[in-house]
Amino acid sequence: MNEALKMNDFPTTARVVIIGGGAVGTSSLYHLAKAGWTDCVLLEKNELTAGSTWHAAGNVPTFSTSWSIMNMQRYSTELYRGLGAAVDYPMNYHVTGSVRLAHSRERMQEFQRAKGMGLYQGMNLEILGVDEIQDKYPFLETHDLQGALYDPADGDIDPAQLTQALAKGARDMGARILRFTPATGVSRENSEWIVHTDKGDIRCEYVVNAAGYYAQRVGEWFKPYGGRTVPMMVMSHQYLLSEEIPEISQWSAETGKKLPLLRDVDVSYYLRQEKNGFNLGPYERGGRAHWADPSDPMPEDFSFQLYPDDLDRLEHYIEDAMARVPLLGSAGISKVINGPIPYAPDGNPLVGPMPGVPNAFEACVFTFGIAQGGGAGKVLAEWITEGATEWDMWSCDPRRFTDYTDHDYCVENGKQVYGHEYAMHFPWHRWPAGADRKLSPVDSRIRAAGGVMGAYNGWERANWFAKPGDDLSHETTQTWDRAGPWEARIREECEAVRDHCGILAISGFTRLQVQGPGAKDYVDGLTASRLSKPGRIGLAYFPDARGRILTEMSVMVHGDDHVGLITASTAQWHDADVLRKNAPAGLHITDHSHEAECFLATGPKAREILAPLTDADLSLPWLSVQLDSHVAGRPCALLRVSFAGELGWELHCANEDAVAIYDAVTAGGAKPFGMWALNSLRLEKGYRAWKGDLSTDYTLYQGGLDRFIKLDKPQDFAGKAALAAEFQRGPSKRFVTLLVEAKLADAPYMSTLWHDGTVVGETTSGGWGYRVNASIALGMLRADLAVPGTEIEVEIYGERCRAVVQADQPLWDPANERLRA
Ligand SMILES: Cc1cc2nc3c(=O)[nH]c(=O)nc-3n(C[C@H](O)[C@H](O)[C@H](O)COP(=O)(O)OP(=O)(O)OC[C@H]3O[C@@H](n4cnc5c(N)ncnc54)[C@H](O)[C@@H]3O)c2cc1C
Repeated sequence: MNEALKMNDFPTTARVVIIGGGAVGTSSLYHLAKAGWTDCVLLEKNELTAGSTWHAAGNVPTFSTSWSIMNMQRYSTELYRGLGAAVDYPMNYHVTGSVRLAHSRERMQEFQRAKGMGLYQGMNLEILGVDEIQDKYPFLETHDLQGALYDPADGDIDPAQLTQALAKGARDMGARILRFTPATGVSRENSEWIVHTDKGDIRCEYVVNAAGYYAQRVGEWFKPYGGRTVPMMVMSHQYLLSEEIPEISQWSAETGKKLPLLRDVDVSYYLRQEKNGFNLGPYERGGRAHWADPSDPMPEDFSFQLYPDDLDRLEHYIEDAMARVPLLGSAGISKVINGPIPYAPDGNPLVGPMPGVPNAFEACVFTFGIAQGGGAGKVLAEWITEGATEWDMWSCDPRRFTDYTDHDYCVENGKQVYGHEYAMHFPWHRWPAGADRKLSPVDSRIRAAGGVMGAYNGWERANWFAKPGDDLSHETTQTWDRAGPWEARIREECEAVRDHCGILAISGFTRLQVQGPGAKDYVDGLTASRLSKPGRIGLAYFPDARGRILTEMSVMVHGDDHVGLITASTAQWHDADVLRKNAPAGLHITDHSHEAECFLATGPKAREILAPLTDADLSLPWLSVQLDSHVAGRPCALLRVSFAGELGWELHCANEDAVAIYDAVTAGGAKPFGMWALNSLRLEKGYRAWKGDLSTDYTLYQGGLDRFIKLDKPQDFAGKAALAAEFQRGPSKRFVTLLVEAKLADAPYMSTLWHDGTVVGETTSGGWGYRVNASIALGMLRADLAVPGTEIEVEIYGERCRAVVQADQPLWDPANERLRA
């Protein structure tokens, strides 16, 4: 062992330093050590568990409607089952199962979807009819329910014991834990981090911020090295413990088990057996944010402390729970726990690369850190040791938030998520918090035309355009079904694009420039695709070392020393990272996303409408680029591409010229259309969407991107060897387009595909195609079945629907004649 790492010596060097010794930090250390990285140190300012971990209720669900979060939680349950024995630290982990109640058809549909995903992950979630619920949970009122979901793997664990077990496991493998050793700052020297403590400095390759609700404070230290304010806030969460209840003691004695965990998700609480009483934990509406303004500063140290009890806030939930499980009302409250719980704006944690900062990672801001801690440790260790994760983890990637997540945004969103912790996330619903962070120069025009807005990386774009009298109430959006006031409008918008010309403001496109000697060769070495010649634009796919799909960007080579890239707005910080990560000195990678607006003008009449307005040559072919043209007398670049799959141009212009250009094109007859129409139009063309169809869950070959993979390119590129090997053996699954005999709802992401009674794949996106008048799903199917004409079934919210594999070409305009017109 390294001299500096002998016990009792303060370690002056390490490969990784983790700041924070809660469930997540220790799990990260444990997984790093398991991966063979034993030369790692965890710093804890107090005793292990002093943050949120010590007082957590310890519930360990697997349920999620996010594939990646479900993966993380499932992995935790599997890890925890064997952990005590593996590290020789017995602990209390009760796998009791759980019953999740449904009050509505939509909730049952949500459960069905989770059941399908769970099955695909090897779990056996069960749907219970109303008359079956009491067999699992005898003390329950069920008269007003629709049914329930039973999760046999759910349970509860002692969070402190879990943390100690992970710590023991890590220590036994050689990792070090320094308790009562706060990190006080970081600095960087010669590509090494130096983590400062009162006991000395530790030099290391990597640093991890696992500081729980203190993560924002720790994050400040990284600002001089490219960091940003960690997007988070802190809520107070309470649970109450009841006195002992004789009926529960008796039931447990007779059955030899604990009651399953109960969650009344439509009301918003969990109720769990704790010893022979209950633990009731509501996520109340209008909950309380802490440390959110100067009148309530965050203390320097809050170790092992709680907030004062505040039961008034919970009254409604307590009463509801007592009506649901009347036994609860038979006992008094013995204890209240009110502790800090951190929230990122979407309620998911931050796990992955720290945006903008080399060799720094985050594993913090966990709202369910006990349930997710096991999986999060695995993910974090993979990020550090392999540079990539087994499962695509974009849902938790810190780079999913960019510069729009200021303090107010975080507080508003955190409160919203907390109060709707168990809410259903309908595709038509827009949550109100945090709107209007970034507005297009033509925002007022879009809204005046009826734009119903949605946020894309903070940018407001129209999802659809309502007409006077359309029902825009919250209630109409509470459905998984296709039908709603938007449906007729999306159809009209798609038809306008099909028959005439539409215009869509795609505000906030990510625009990156790579400049300097060798810029073109550098980009060429990152992509499997062939770069197009100057004057043309082309799609390029960027694999990781495993040949998986890291990202897709549209590339314009302006010269050997200058390449421009355009990519999804949400990919802004991710794709900048892809370009910056190994950039040689002398190359400058700059982000120009805020400087310009983009309008997509597309449809068979696009040329006619633009001709009188522009000096550009509209006869130039598909994929041509004219950078120095004008529209309405204003400078404007015209790129002949259309994600809608019709004749069309993207008009890229400076923000100050956007109004004039938009006004001219709409005055010429182009009709505004929205993002939901665009989604339908792109599905009909089989165009992939980022982090649905395109993710690191799939290789480029699996993604059906064969024609963009140029193994014969002279340049070596990331993932080339892996892709060449996959080409030889053939991919195990293949991207397919499916026509689905869908009923009321189209297939959402991660609907399972069935053949001969087994799951053979999954959808990556789905929706209605208004030009082809059919329900479409894009997905990944076992390779032997990915043959045109094969009949399979898609399970959509529990209903199996017949589907047929289509030829590997667009459903709409298969020869791309309309695009090239
Ligand atoms: C009442 C309540 C009930 C909950 N119930 C559940 C539940 O049932 N299931 C579930 O999954 N989650 C639950 N949670 C959430 C859960 O507690 C947290 O998600 C989880 O504990 C977070 O773990 P962590 O390791 O990320 O952070 P923490 O446990 O907060 O650990 C962070 C650590 O970093 C240390 N630290 C901070 N700054 C420094 C520094 N400068 N140097 C060194 N160390 C530092 C802190 O002392 C702390 O120990 C509950 C939370 C509350 C409040």
